[in-house]
Amino acid sequence: MATFRLSHEALQEILAQRMSEIPLSGIREIFEKAQSIPDVIRLEFGEPDFDTPAHIKNAAYEALKSGATKYTSSFGIGELRDAVAEKMFRENGVKCSRKNVVITAGATSALSLSVLATMNPSNEILIPNPGWANYVPISRIGGAKSVGYPLLEKDGFNIDIENVRKLITPKTKMILINSPSNPSGGIMQEEDLKALGELAIEKDLLILSDEVYEKFIYDGERHVSPASFPQFKDRIITINSFSKTYAMTGWRIGYAVAPAEIAEAMGRLNSSTNSCTAAMTQCAALAALKGSQRCVSDMVEAFKKRRKVIIDGLGEIKQLSCSPPKGAFYAFVNIGKTGMDSISLATKILEQGHVATVPGAAFGSFGEGYVRLAYANSEENLKVALSRIKSVLSS
Ligand code: PLP
Repeated sequence: MATFRLSHEALQEILAQRMSEIPLSGIREIFEKAQSIPDVIRLEFGEPDFDTPAHIKNAAYEALKSGATKYTSSFGIGELRDAVAEKMFRENGVKCSRKNVVITAGATSALSLSVLATMNPSNEILIPNPGWANYVPISRIGGAKSVGYPLLEKDGFNIDIENVRKLITPKTKMILINSPSNPSGGIMQEEDLKALGELAIEKDLLILSDEVYEKFIYDGERHVSPASFPQFKDRIITINSFSKTYAMTGWRIGYAVAPAEIAEAMGRLNSSTNSCTAAMTQCAALAALKGSQRCVSDMVEAFKKRRKVIIDGLGEIKQLSCSPPKGAFYAFVNIGKTGMDSISLATKILEQGHVATVPGAAFGSFGEGYVRLAYANSEENLKVALSRIKSVLSS
């Protein structure tokens, strides 16, 4: 079929200026290349390889049969908002009600709505560097400028509050945090969260807390939601999702929990962006929250085993090093000893070893010197991938 295209000149006229600041994600580029390699092992994508648990899928079938085929409120179905509020209290120690909750098309939409609802064009938002690649375009689409704060391996990829303080200007209005972190697997400690909350009060800032990997925690670490501290609660927007916890990436459902007035503004925005999240998806999410959580703990157990395979395997490749990630399902591997930059190394591993990884540069300037391996793949595949990487590096 013939493709119709615009000339380069026409394109410059037609596309909005902001598009030049919204590059194709570094993950997508590797993904596209990997498509053409038949025996490739995919360690680039950040989604659980498990299927959505059967009781959640069944709830969606039942919902469809009973007519969940219409628009819902832009804030989400009341029962689901109540269930999220109960979950936030039960699991995260955050006292809230449905008025604090907005159901969105994934955490991605919850993040965008948070930025759109709160940031003006002159505002700056501090984002983690390295951090999830979409934080930059999400800030830009929301009209704000993103400024990265470094997370360094020497600090265990932990936030350095004094460094963050130095980056705050009169334009700064929000700090985005992500714990457990994509890509480093780092986890923010309670004392750092408290120090950050105090800084937010001192400088009158909002905190946007992306907690989508909260269930993927290892080595006896604990996830703490900053909104659980009553003294900071009114300046925190908590973002979460069903994507990772219940292997529901394709369903597009997540939520934000915020002070009622911010949640109201986000719901209003949602009505003119997505209208609402699909009704049957919301019914499935309700079943996920109300049903047994055994499916979550089983999945996390599998990730623990895979994490061990990855750490042990990397330990045998002398050009690579990786401190055991405390959370999420990524190994952020230091490639300094290879003498290569992250894009060249990821390309070489893909082309010669048929293993897809993500170059650290895709996560910001401080991600250079690393590649990210997602261990959302079978133990068997992980072992094969590691031996392929080993032979590429020793050839
Ligand atoms: N936040 C982080 C840190 C992520 O890594 C991802 C997806 O990879 C998301 C948010 C997006 O999640 P969702 O599928 O709910 O939009």
